[in-house]
Amino acid sequence: MAGINRELLLDCAICPNMCRCECPVDREFGREAVSPSGKARLAHLLLEGHLDWDGDLLEAISSCLGCRGCRLLCPFPELDLCEELLLARTEARPAGMILPAAVPYLNNLKKFGSPYGARPAALASPGSQNPEVLYFINCTSQANHPRSQQIILELLEAAGVSYRVLDQYCCGYPAQIWGDMELARQLAAENSARAAQSGAQLLLTDCPECWHTFTARYPEWGSELSLPVVDTATFFLGLVRQGRLEPGPLGEIGTVAYHDPCIWARVAEICAAPRELMQSIPGLELREAQPAGRETRCCGGGAMFQLTFPEQSAGIARRRLEEMPPAAALVTSCPFCRENLQAGGGKVLDLAELLGLAVLR
Ligand code: SF4
Ligand code: SF4
Repeated sequence: MAGINRELLLDCAICPNMCRCECPVDREFGREAVSPSGKARLAHLLLEGHLDWDGDLLEAISSCLGCRGCRLLCPFPELDLCEELLLARTEARPAGMILPAAVPYLNNLKKFGSPYGARPAALASPGSQNPEVLYFINCTSQANHPRSQQIILELLEAAGVSYRVLDQYCCGYPAQIWGDMELARQLAAENSARAAQSGAQLLLTDCPECWHTFTARYPEWGSELSLPVVDTATFFLGLVRQGRLEPGPLGEIGTVAYHDPCIWARVAEICAAPRELMQSIPGLELREAQPAGRETRCCGGGAMFQLTFPEQSAGIARRRLEEMPPAAALVTSCPFCRENLQAGGGKVLDLAELLGLAVLR
């Protein structure tokens, strides 16, 4: 794994917080210590041995959504501050030092393979042998909104795509952000082995954090997947273009507002596919948030924030909801965004749910 870049971290530590207006944590907490440069300063001083690790400092440098809003204004193109903070937390903190709020979720992850606890009964149809698609069941939808996962399977069936589900283990990202790299690597190895055994041609995911973990972190953890990873927006758009899915009018939903999840928009650069997919639904008007696309703002759900910083996470969601235009439905394509915008008071549909309403009539 690439190590911490101390020079870049120092550049950030002495920067006059050029990007703080784009940091949702800074805006919500209103504290210098959790501003982008403030967190870099603390991480730098901890790594240099000028501060001793304690719970308050760990909490401060954990106060990052991984949203990369700071990169929009940062003068250092090579700096990915959230990754440097993550490395500082995972590599350099004393063994056994864990955010107290994360302890029950980490225990769940060890015991059940999901931070949310015992996994519910398997989906009705586990799928076929030697499938075209291996659909990864993300823990957050499985725990909070399994109907959206069932709809994805029904869409695959409607298009005649053979599939199998992979539903035993979390992708491992929560273990990394909470500091248990041994567990993260173990989960990655399990998922990678099962994916290879599946015989599928591609792994399908509707979770941007899972996608990022599979594509960027698994190779660093020595568990590179043997098959390509594709997001549901791109995959279902391909099926619509081929005429294998035929969206019809939605009736009561005439307008939608779309919230771009940070990882899809800024890391995967997937902004056009969800829009084209929504525009394939006859008569549906898409209204844009301000800001939208690559400039999107985090809903407060990144980096499992709704579990470890629930009040602040809901506050960030409320701020994001104020940026959404009026529409019959708010749509997003990330299980964390869906849960968090709902917790902030929004009525939210997952993109697959919207497509399901248009196709599975
Ligand atoms: S992330 Fe970039 S712009 Fe923001 S404080 Fe650090 S160096 Fe400055
Ligand atoms: S990644 Fe997001 S939450 Fe973290 S410092 Fe940058 S803007 Fe703030």
